[in-house]
Amino acid sequence: MAPMSEGNQQSIEALSAEHRMFPPPAEFAANALTNDRTLFDEAAADHEGFWARQASELVEWSRPWDTVLEWDLPYSKWFLGGQLNVSANCLDRHVAAGNGDKIAIHWEGEPGDSRDITYAEMLDEVSKFANVLTGLGVEKGDRVMVYMPMIPEAAVAMLACARIGAPHSVVFGGFSAQSLADRIDDADAKVVITADGGHRRGSVFPLKPAADEAVEKTSTIEHVVVVKRGGNEVDMVDGRDHWYHELMNGASADCPPVPHDSEDLLFLLYTSGTTGKPKGIMHTMGGYLTHTTYTHKYVFDLHPETDVFWCTADVGWITGHSYIVYGPMSNGCTQVMYEGVPNYPENDRFWEIVAKYGVTKFYTAPTAIRTFMKWGAEEPAKHDLSSLQLLGTVGEPINPEAWMWYHEHIGGGRCPIVDTWWQTETGGIMISPLPGVTTTKPGSATHPLPGVVAELVDDDANHVETGGGYLTLTKPWPGMLRGIWGDPQRYIDTYWGRFDDRYFAGDGAKIDDDGYLWVLGRVDDVMNVSGHRISTAEVESALVSHPSVAEAAVVGATDATTGQAVMAYVILRSGAADVTPEELRTHVAGEIGAIAKPKAIFITPDLPKTRSGKIMRRLLRDVAEGRNLGDTTTLADASVVDELQRRANEAP
Ligand code: ATP
Ligand code: MG
Repeated sequence: MAPMSEGNQQSIEALSAEHRMFPPPAEFAANALTNDRTLFDEAAADHEGFWARQASELVEWSRPWDTVLEWDLPYSKWFLGGQLNVSANCLDRHVAAGNGDKIAIHWEGEPGDSRDITYAEMLDEVSKFANVLTGLGVEKGDRVMVYMPMIPEAAVAMLACARIGAPHSVVFGGFSAQSLADRIDDADAKVVITADGGHRRGSVFPLKPAADEAVEKTSTIEHVVVVKRGGNEVDMVDGRDHWYHELMNGASADCPPVPHDSEDLLFLLYTSGTTGKPKGIMHTMGGYLTHTTYTHKYVFDLHPETDVFWCTADVGWITGHSYIVYGPMSNGCTQVMYEGVPNYPENDRFWEIVAKYGVTKFYTAPTAIRTFMKWGAEEPAKHDLSSLQLLGTVGEPINPEAWMWYHEHIGGGRCPIVDTWWQTETGGIMISPLPGVTTTKPGSATHPLPGVVAELVDDDANHVETGGGYLTLTKPWPGMLRGIWGDPQRYIDTYWGRFDDRYFAGDGAKIDDDGYLWVLGRVDDVMNVSGHRISTAEVESALVSHPSVAEAAVVGATDATTGQAVMAYVILRSGAADVTPEELRTHVAGEIGAIAKPKAIFITPDLPKTRSGKIMRRLLRDVAEGRNLGDTTTLADASVVDELQRRANEAP
């Protein structure tokens, strides 16, 4: 248990201790872009100067900035006076440098069709589509909704918007008509870009009907552009709806990139809503592009001449914005984009794709890794994964055992792993190893990147040297959100209300004796058991360290004697030895202490997750406390909680 330093109230206790260490492999470090402390030292000595150097080296400006940073707490503005075109940075400059024939996207459709698109082709397509949008009356500043499957046209739509300065707002294709309508309304959007449908889990899911319903529920949409992908039957409204391929047929590929101000709005992205009504997070051009280009380059140790990068996120999430569209394309690298699910037609689809394209850098989420663990190591073993050089994770804390599994069965024991902590609001990666520099520990995001300043504090904003606390950011960074669309007060309340001079977006963390940071998840999820504040993440990781367990979700349920009691839901690994809840309780006690021993453990085939794959503990709390379920609209599969509820009611 963490020592309580005097006069320094600990907000979360630190229970587990991880001692396994993985220094950068010598050969990897020798070839890495950076393998010493230079970047850290430079950023520590001159925060603004460091970011200014990144902006001038990594981004092409049509007019240099006058002021690096204007910091008017809680608002930051970067590279003021500077002008750039984000899409020209992602396309034109690579073509101009002679890389027009280089593959930008190896696109893999779920049914097995595929397309290779070069940078020159991408530039043509984006230029044409920018002209199409202009032809539909879209002007700089107008908001455009993108509601698409994972097809290259999603990236084309985003970059075309960026080219003409019309902020896009991408809504994940799995969201309902109502979710789209709420976002259209909030953004006052003018155009929706969608598709007839896309392929998922072996069938076509229709998008256009949901887009129609959303457009009918709202009053601002003038045009709907429809990409043909699913081949499903759709209704087209005369004058309002247009086929993408028909508009593109007549469009000119001549669309010079006009310069935009660094602080012009690039996009709105509504957060996934794990914690409440979606917020339209605002990101602007110069700072965001600098941050994503820099982090994509150094965190993934990018060698654009040889790398094949694959980020498995959907473009509907911030990860897809920053590490499919903007970061990789600004860096001019070749990447893979995949339309479907990891288990179509079989559980080894991802590994087949890695082998097919020779993927070198692979970035996915802990939820996916735990699913792969559940399916078993024989799936990746069917393919040659020797092209892989580096692995990344994002989205949730990664349980140390899931990290070890990833390291061994996907990375062949040779690939550094970057566990990257960041948020929709931060725009890009904030806390992560640098793979040629940092010695990693399984489950720890390690340290803030050069240029990022984070501090752990207790309830009274005192510095926490070791132990648990609130994860805050004390200096502005270029990819920082510029506010919440249409709701400045909510921006202040949400991020600056808990501590008034530091950014706090709701995560707890701990620092171990070696100074490593461990993100413990949302502070709302912290349990209070007999006065001990315990993070769900640590109990979950203790459960996942049992050889029979693939995934675990833990919540605190009201308890008459202890205040809250630890309740656990556990998914077993396929083919694993049978295990009783009692054995697992004892295992947790042995791993992290009796105080964290779950009162009850339920073995379940599935867990409620958001559509971005994160465990929704709020709903599990409702189940555990026998309440009616709250808002379930952002759940990927609502039947999962119904089943858990049914079992809970049947329990004696
Ligand atoms: P909402 O804010 O709408 O509730 P969300 O927070 O899930 O949704 P994102 O911005 O996609 O939306 O996710 C950011 C959050 O994901 C972080 O605040 C953190 O809780 C979690 N997270 C991301 N990366 C990591 C990581 N490497 N380790 C631990 N947690 C992570
Ligand atoms: Mg969040």
